[in-house]
Amino acid sequence: AATGGSTTVRQVKLDKECELRIESSADSPLRLRLLTGTAEIFGTEVPPGIWLNFSPRLKFAVFTWYGATIEMDGPTETDYTADETPMISYINVHAVLDGRRNHAKASPSDSDTSQGPRVVVVGPTDSGKSTLSRMLLSWAAKQGWKPTFVDLDIGQGSITIPGCIAATPIELPIDPVEGIPLEMPMVYFFGHVTPSANVDHYKVLVKELSQTLEKQFSGNAESRASGMVINTMGWIEGVGYELLLHAIDTFNATVVLVLGQEKLCSMLKDVLKNRPNVDVVKLQKSGGVVSRNAKVRQKARGYRIREYFYGPSNDLSPHSNVVNFSDLFIYRIGGGPQAPRSALPIGAVPAADPTRLVPVNVNHDLLHLVLAVSYAKEQDQIVSSNVAGFIYVTDIDMHRKKITYLAPCAGELPSKYLIVGTLTWIEN
Ligand code: ADP
Repeated sequence: AATGGSTTVRQVKLDKECELRIESSADSPLRLRLLTGTAEIFGTEVPPGIWLNFSPRLKFAVFTWYGATIEMDGPTETDYTADETPMISYINVHAVLDGRRNHAKASPSDSDTSQGPRVVVVGPTDSGKSTLSRMLLSWAAKQGWKPTFVDLDIGQGSITIPGCIAATPIELPIDPVEGIPLEMPMVYFFGHVTPSANVDHYKVLVKELSQTLEKQFSGNAESRASGMVINTMGWIEGVGYELLLHAIDTFNATVVLVLGQEKLCSMLKDVLKNRPNVDVVKLQKSGGVVSRNAKVRQKARGYRIREYFYGPSNDLSPHSNVVNFSDLFIYRIGGGPQAPRSALPIGAVPAADPTRLVPVNVNHDLLHLVLAVSYAKEQDQIVSSNVAGFIYVTDIDMHRKKITYLAPCAGELPSKYLIVGTLTWIEN
C-alpha cells in the first residue's frame, strides 16, 4: 500500500521478483541503501551498504530478483511495493538479444551477420519506453557489451536536452543517480519539441544520425556486434506512425519492441510481415510507469535544460558571456518568409524548402531561447552537422548591439554558427 509522506528512516523487505516503486518528493532529497540481498534500479545493480542520494521529483523502482532489504531516509511523494512486474519478460528479451550479440561477435567482421541486434522501442507516451531502453542497455553493458543508445524522442531527451536527437555508446550500466554520462554524445539539433514543426527536417536529421553511426560501426566490430537500442517518440498516430516506420527503415531495425499497445503492434506486424529479418514483439507495460500530463512534461523539459547548464546536482556554474551581434551567425532551418499567395501563379502552393537555411536577425525574439552551436565549418554544412552544445540567450541590448548568453563554460564558442528553433526556457 502507498505510504506517502513518511519521513523517518525505515526498512522495506522485498520478496523475490518484487519492486519498491518510489516517487521522491518535490522539495527534499531522498537517501536509500541496500541492506541485504541484491537489487537493481532500471537494470543497474545497487551497491550494497552505500547510501545513494536521489534528487527531488524522481520516479523509479528498486527491483530484486532474489529478495532484498532496502533502507530509506527522507520523505517521498509515494512509495509502495509491487509484486506484479513485467521484468521476467524484459529479461527474456535481453537474453535473446545477448544470444544475437554473441552470434554477431562470432561472425566474420565483414559479413552482414556481424551486426548485432538493432532494437527499436515503440509505444505511446508514458508506456515506459525510456525505462525499458535503459534496462536493456544496462544489462548489456553489465555483460561487457558496448551497445549504442539512440534517442529519437525530441519531447523529453534522455541523452541531452529536449529538441534533439542523439546517440551515445553505453559502456557501463547507467548510474541510477547520475544518469547517462555526457562524455561524447553525437547530437543533432531539431530545435522543436514536436516533429510536426518540420517533419522533413526531422527525417533529415534521423538519416544523418544513422549514417554517422553506420560509419562508426564499420570501423568498430565491438560496437557493431553490441548493436543499438533506439528509443522513439510517444507520438504513434498519423505522422507520428509514419516517423516510426521511417526510423525502423532508416536504422535497419531487426527487433521492434512494442509497449502496451495492441493496435500499434498489429499494425507494425502487418506492415513488416514481408521482412523476415524484423521481429515485432509485444511487451506488457509496467504498472509502475507514472503518467505525466502535458504540464508535467513541460516542466520536466525545463529541468532537463537547467541540468545541462547547472549539472544534475547543481554542481556546475555556467558562464555568462557578452558578445556583439556581429560575432554570431544565427540560422533557422526551414520556413522563413514565403512569397505571398498573390505573387504565385494561380493554383500554385507556396512551398518553402523545409531544410532551407534562413538567416535570423538578432532582436528581442531571441530572448529566453536555447540555441545550438553547430560543428559546421561552412555555412552549407549547418543543416547536416551535429552540434557541440547549447547556449541560452539572457539579454538583448538593441542599443549597444550586444547579446548576453549563458554557456556551460567561459571563452569563445567552438563555432560562430548557431541554430535557433522554438525551444525556450525560463530560468528560475
Ligand atoms: P516513456 O519513455 O514511454 O514516456 P518512461 O520510461 O519515461 O516512459 O516512464 C515514465 C516515468 O515513469 C519515468 O519517470 C520513469 O522513471 C517512471 N517509471 C517507469 N517504470 C517505473 C517503475 N517500475 N516504477 C516507478 N516508476 C517507473
